[in-house]
Amino acid sequence: MSKSINVTVWSEYRHEKSHEEVARVYPKGMHEAIAEGLRAYPEYSVRTATLDEPEHGLTQEVLDSTDVLTWWGHMAHHEVSDAIVERVRQRVWAGMGLIVLHSGHFSKIFKALMGTGCNLKWREANEKERLWVINPGHPIVAGIEEYFELPHEEMYGEHFDIPAPDELVLVSWFEGGEIFRSGCCFTRGAGKIFYFRPGHETYPTYFDANVRKVIGNAVRWAAPNGNHEPIRGNVKPLEIIRS
Ligand code: ZN
Repeated sequence: MSKSINVTVWSEYRHEKSHEEVARVYPKGMHEAIAEGLRAYPEYSVRTATLDEPEHGLTQEVLDSTDVLTWWGHMAHHEVSDAIVERVRQRVWAGMGLIVLHSGHFSKIFKALMGTGCNLKWREANEKERLWVINPGHPIVAGIEEYFELPHEEMYGEHFDIPAPDELVLVSWFEGGEIFRSGCCFTRGAGKIFYFRPGHETYPTYFDANVRKVIGNAVRWAAPNGNHEPIRGNVKPLEIIRS
């Protein structure tokens, strides 16, 4: 099969350098674990980009040739340049897909696209997460059972301050009792956005087969559909206006 979807996996790549616990779980960096899952799809052409590269690895050229961008950030959201956030937002409006992972809920780009605070409840207690498929016909959960579990994750709880998603695909339940909208679809301009909750840096979540399947499906869902970019602004009439 020809490579038809260009994916750029972006990660801040800081915890891995400063926290031994994280480096043990993700010795090549979280971006490499996410990219590895996507490289299993022959039709995806996958590259990575990280915060400390020039322009965070997201030059105009890279973004222009990206169909779907995945985003993991946490401790250094504030270090992402506003100019690059704007560049990413423009690309989403023009049709690039964006998959925002876990603590990316507080990234500048997610907040800019949502227009809300994006805050939530959290707890690090090594607890079980059960993710329920609540939209079984949705392409993002193709091949996923009724639910799947992650034995150890950070808890994120409602209320999650996002606009009502266009489609809600997954809801998480946590051992401590909270629930969370953990698979949310949005559109902004011509671009599709998927927020996917799991992925705390101290757990091997991005090696989990179900998590990889959801991200892999989400890439296909979020990829541009080939539609013409909408024409806006002042236009000539299509018909002769006689009145
Ligand atoms: Zn976390």
